[in-house]
Amino acid sequence: MHMFDGNGHNDNEITDPLQSPDVLPHYDLLDRLGVIDEINRLKTLVIERNDLLGEATVLFTQTEIPEIARTAAGFLVNKFVPRRLSFIYSPDGRPEVTVLSFRNMKEDPPETHLMDLSPFDGFFAENIGLVRFSDLRERLKDPVALEDLDIMDPELVIPVKGHAGLYGMVVISEKIVGGDYNISELAYVDRLMSFVSIAMQNSIHYSSSVTDSKTRLYNTAFIQSEIEEEISRIKRYGGVFSILMIDLDFFKRLNDKYGHLAGDLVLKEVAAIIGSSVREGDVAARFGGEEFLVLLHSAGACDAYSISERLRRTIEARRFFYMNHELRVTASIGCVSFNGNENVSREDLTYLADKALYRSKQTGRNTTSIIGSGLLFRASNRLHHLDKN
Ligand code: GH3
Ligand code: MG
Ligand code: MG
Repeated sequence: MHMFDGNGHNDNEITDPLQSPDVLPHYDLLDRLGVIDEINRLKTLVIERNDLLGEATVLFTQTEIPEIARTAAGFLVNKFVPRRLSFIYSPDGRPEVTVLSFRNMKEDPPETHLMDLSPFDGFFAENIGLVRFSDLRERLKDPVALEDLDIMDPELVIPVKGHAGLYGMVVISEKIVGGDYNISELAYVDRLMSFVSIAMQNSIHYSSSVTDSKTRLYNTAFIQSEIEEEISRIKRYGGVFSILMIDLDFFKRLNDKYGHLAGDLVLKEVAAIIGSSVREGDVAARFGGEEFLVLLHSAGACDAYSISERLRRTIEARRFFYMNHELRVTASIGCVSFNGNENVSREDLTYLADKALYRSKQTGRNTTSIIGSGLLFRASNRLHHLDKN
């Protein structure tokens, strides 16, 4: 929004002193003294800084790293086109790296063997910003790590750093046209990438704040706020959604028999099954211990039941291999749907899903129990009634 003063001037526009009638009689003198050139230089600088601020604002609205990278790549090509541009980053604070690369500004992943950022950690702890690859090559005595970067045609390397050390690197190759990078291009890259770096850190911090570190599924806090949001969305606009509460059967026994590490392996693999069985946009979370909670958008009781049964059968059929053991596990599931007809809260819904799960446990485990819409009303009445007593 623009602000206007009483004279109709736009506050955001910088008034051009050279346009003032008082300047004209002294123009030649000012020109000879270099004042005109200096004013023009400053005008260009202000325009560049304004552009950069606009770019930073756009970058900071992106929450996914690939989007941040694509946006930054889009800004860079306004200035020059590098043959290759690569973003290397460790998502969710994991050691393994992901590489997003553009060749001639088209996405095209290089066949790099770069596994993690540790060879570069020490170097970038001492070097703050952009470095030329030739400097890095001279000072980093790790030929294998350099070979892994070589495939990205590196010319400039910019670290992405945060409190926990090195999160990533941006690797820029030579320009397609126009020779070596000049000072103003280097300064622009350095500034733009410092914003990219902050945007990437924000994204990594955000995703680790909503992720369960053991299973990489969402955490409890995140799914609770998603359920909260979904309830109010459906109360306002209508629709339906379901939640599944999943608990592994006799998991203590599995731990006792094969050890906690075996338990962890099974837990992670079951989490992966759950995470990959839901649709994009659905939310799969670890709800503590060996319990999971899943939010299924637009799924009524029938959909939720069939999704739940498919999932239960997949878990039942899976073999897990730990040391020389072949392990199996089953899951009990409680399922509840909500279509806005009842006045229930998020706590009520989780309580009811837990009730349904308890029923599955009581009726022999490895099964799905469901609380449907009409039942939900009776169950929630009973729930409020119970709570009063
Ligand atoms: P039920 O069929 O009634 O659910 O039996 P259960 O043994 O699964 O239930 P219980 O709640 O008694 O035990 C849950 C077990 O899950 C106990 C705990 O040690 C184990 N567990 C919880 N979190 C983890 C974890 O992160 N890793 C491992 N290995 N085990 C876990
Ligand atoms: Mg259990
Ligand atoms: Mg449990």
